[in-house]
Amino acid sequence: MESRNSSGGFAPATTAETARRNRRDRLALRPADFVAPRYAGVSDHRLALALTTEDRSEEDGLDPLERVTCRTHRRWLHDCVASPLHVVIVTGTRWCRECECALNVAIDQLAGDVAVRCPSCGGTPATRATRQLVRACRASLAAAADR
Ligand SMILES: [Zn+2]
Ligand SMILES: [Zn+2]
Repeated sequence: MESRNSSGGFAPATTAETARRNRRDRLALRPADFVAPRYAGVSDHRLALALTTEDRSEEDGLDPLERVTCRTHRRWLHDCVASPLHVVIVTGTRWCRECECALNVAIDQLAGDVAVRCPSCGGTPATRATRQLVRACRASLAAAADR
C-alpha cells in the first residue's frame, strides 16, 4: 500500500545529497542501508530504514509518540494511526477526555494534511497530545513522500 509520486518529481542529485548527509549525521557507525532484521520483510526500503533509525533513536531518548514510523505495524504512522492501538488514554493521544472516546484522524495524502476530530462532540482537543499527534502524522506523510 505504498503511494508513489507519479508526477516524475524525483531529483536524483538532491536525494543523493540528502542521503549522504543522513549517513554522516545519523548512521555514522553503520552502513547507510542498514536495516534491522525484524524489518527485513518490509518492502518499502525507505520505510525499513526509517523504522531502524527510529528504533535506535527511541533507545537514545526519542519520545515514542514523536515517531513517524510504527514499530508495531511496521508502517508509516499515517498509514496505521487509525488503528485502536494508537489510542493512548493516559497521555490523551487520539483520545477525547471530555467524551472519553477515541478521536478520528483524517489523512489527506495529497495535501499532506491531518485532521483530528472527536466523533462524539465534533471538537478537536486543544491539547499537547493532539498537537503532537498531528505533527507526527504530518512528518510521517512528508517522510513517506520524501518531501
Ligand atoms: Zn501503528
Ligand atoms: Zn469529544
